[in-house]
Amino acid sequence: MILPILAYGDPILRKKGIDITPEYPGLSALIENMWETMYEASGVGLAAPQVGKAINLFIIDTGAFGETEEATGEKRVFINAKILEESGEKWDYEEGCLSIPHIRENVNRHSNLVIEYQDEFFKTHTATYNGLAARVIQHEYDHCIGVLFVDHISQLKKRLIKNKLINISKGGARVDYKMRIPNGR
Ligand code: ZN
Repeated sequence: MILPILAYGDPILRKKGIDITPEYPGLSALIENMWETMYEASGVGLAAPQVGKAINLFIIDTGAFGETEEATGEKRVFINAKILEESGEKWDYEEGCLSIPHIRENVNRHSNLVIEYQDEFFKTHTATYNGLAARVIQHEYDHCIGVLFVDHISQLKKRLIKNKLINISKGGARVDYKMRIPNGR
């Protein structure tokens, strides 16, 4: 089932996602629906808060970047993730977000990270990522702590896109996927 994606301005996008247990109601259906929703919207990652669930869960599939040295097509479910360490050179990459359509801005982040997480079977893993996979994880992880990529850009750039953000929150952005506007239906 395709779920509506929350638009910028929705307070749920600002909540810190809580850790969950295998007993979380409807978890496997939620994960399945998140995959369907992400692919329908041509995304490479989706976090549960974006579909209205303030929990620590996100999915990524970097396959759309193609198989390069930077992106090896990582497809994975991350539950109760904690980034333990970020390191390496900081680099700029133009990020976008399904909750913030038609805005892309360079965000400066570390190139490497170590993350501890549980998979969909609640098995715990510790993994190292770099390049584009690390980038997508950092972006989605941020969603689970109530942070959006536009929080990382300069005040000047934020002022320049302020009206666009207001427009998105009012339902003015045209997208070819299902969106939910704050206080709307
Ligand atoms: Zn996003």
